[in-house]
Amino acid sequence: MTVFKPDREQSFAKTALALMGGCNVVSTPDNFELFYAYASGENPAVIQVMTAIINAKKPFTPELLQDLRLRCLSGARAALAMEALGGDMGAVIDDVLGRLAEAGKDTATYKDTLSAATGELGSDRSPADVRKLVENLISATRAMEQRTRSLEGELQASSAQVSELRHKLDDVRKESLVDALTNIANRKAFDDAVKAAMDAVAQGEDVTLLLCDIDHFKKFNDTWGHQTGDQVLRLVGSCLAENVKGRDTAARYGGEEFAVLLRGSPLDAAVRVADQIRQTVETKKLVKKSTGDVLGAITISIGVAQFARGESAEAVIRRADACLYGAKHNGRNLVISQNDPRMAAMETSAA
Ligand code: GH3
Ligand code: MG
Ligand code: MG
Repeated sequence: MTVFKPDREQSFAKTALALMGGCNVVSTPDNFELFYAYASGENPAVIQVMTAIINAKKPFTPELLQDLRLRCLSGARAALAMEALGGDMGAVIDDVLGRLAEAGKDTATYKDTLSAATGELGSDRSPADVRKLVENLISATRAMEQRTRSLEGELQASSAQVSELRHKLDDVRKESLVDALTNIANRKAFDDAVKAAMDAVAQGEDVTLLLCDIDHFKKFNDTWGHQTGDQVLRLVGSCLAENVKGRDTAARYGGEEFAVLLRGSPLDAAVRVADQIRQTVETKKLVKKSTGDVLGAITISIGVAQFARGESAEAVIRRADACLYGAKHNGRNLVISQNDPRMAAMETSAA
């Protein structure tokens, strides 16, 4: 249930590396990301697919690893989509540059025709010659006009293509900030929101952080299966989204952990919002879609901390995490803030 536990993360990293060695997988950062996700147990899709491969003793070929990344890691999917869009954009730009170069050549020829005509006009010419010259000039000018018009059309088409690509790029960018399972902000979006919030804190704004963790979720998964567990994650995500507004950010922080940033909220107001979220989750009736079984209530515990001016994001996350731990320790289905007397009591008993 914990959020920042360096010991735990280090042990995941060690397991991941050992496993990579055992499976003859080269330790590149990309492969490490995959095996870390497996070792941490926080990405059920990775666990399911990789367990099947390991049990079947199938080799982890580069193709298989790439396929796994694309299927299971949203960051890899976004990177690939970006790469494809980048390629499309490059092709359009090459095309436009090619057309402009062609147009440049036509313009140069036209200029040569005009210069030559100026020279010829200077010499002694018969009216028939002059007429011929003027006719040539008119036809060269018409050809140039037509070329310019068609270039305009071609450039308009390219510009439409570029703007379509820009929309796609926007979609990919948005998608890369959303958690695919719960449809709320993902960890990257949360990290971005924290950075923006820290600037606001420096300007004197009250900003609070809620860390939420589902109670006894492992038992729930073991009893009802991962898919029903995923249904619960979606439900909790929607309860968070329901209770925040405006510049607040509700995000899936990790497996079954969620984080909420409340902008312009001092601690007491944040505790009220947290308790509202806690109650919203508690009162939802859970029914297993496939069978209609009533699954009983789900509860969450929440730790609440306020950003202090000048402190690091890690420090406030650690404080909220300690409060979350306090909520678990005091019986779960609870909200505990950094000012809660139960926190002081825990510190005293730990001393
Ligand atoms: P606590 O009340 O102390 O938080 O107990 P817990 O069982 O919730 O905590 P623990 O950290 O032991 O287990 C978390 C479980 O969450 C492990 C894993 O099965 C489940 N989990 C994590 N990510 C996902 C996910 O994406 N989908 C599903 N279905 N389960 C997940
Ligand atoms: Mg947890
Ligand atoms: Mg939990």
